[in-house]
Amino acid sequence: MALITCPECSHDVSDQAAHCPNCGHPFVTASSDTTPVTETSTRLRMLAIVTIASGALIAVGSIMPWRTAILPFVGTINVNGTEGDGIITLILGAMIAATGLVVLLMGRTPGASVAGAFFTAAAGLVAYLAFQSTLEVIQLVDSDVGSASIGVGLWLIAIGIVGAAIGTVGTLTTKANG
Ligand SMILES: [Zn+2]
Repeated sequence: MALITCPECSHDVSDQAAHCPNCGHPFVTASSDTTPVTETSTRLRMLAIVTIASGALIAVGSIMPWRTAILPFVGTINVNGTEGDGIITLILGAMIAATGLVVLLMGRTPGASVAGAFFTAAAGLVAYLAFQSTLEVIQLVDSDVGSASIGVGLWLIAIGIVGAAIGTVGTLTTKANG
């Protein structure tokens, strides 16, 4: 057990002490050093789980209806995402979840986070184009007696993309120490 000198009162103190027994000055000990690292890895784990959940949400949204149309004599038509570009967002969602899993299992992995952010941007572009084409269909159908609306799948993907952006950019900007 070594002795150190308190910077506040110059009292000799054990280097194992958390506080100076003379003046109460707090010392940075080995145990208090680990606290910020633990907080950071908790934050990193939470962001990784957000990334995994968001990727799964994008994948689930991909196989659900992207467009619902109610037409006279025909009835309700659901167009599922996987009948079109949903195959792309299904794969992207799975890959986003995979990058989150890498960060969850291996800790801070900038390469995985950058890839996840890239996949999220790509899924965002596909979903944006699907929104646009669906809005065009809605305008066309509403001029008739039928109706059309954006399906639940596209809304789930929109939520998933916001979550994946927060998760991937968050894990990328979370520092390893403090
Ligand atoms: Zn002291």
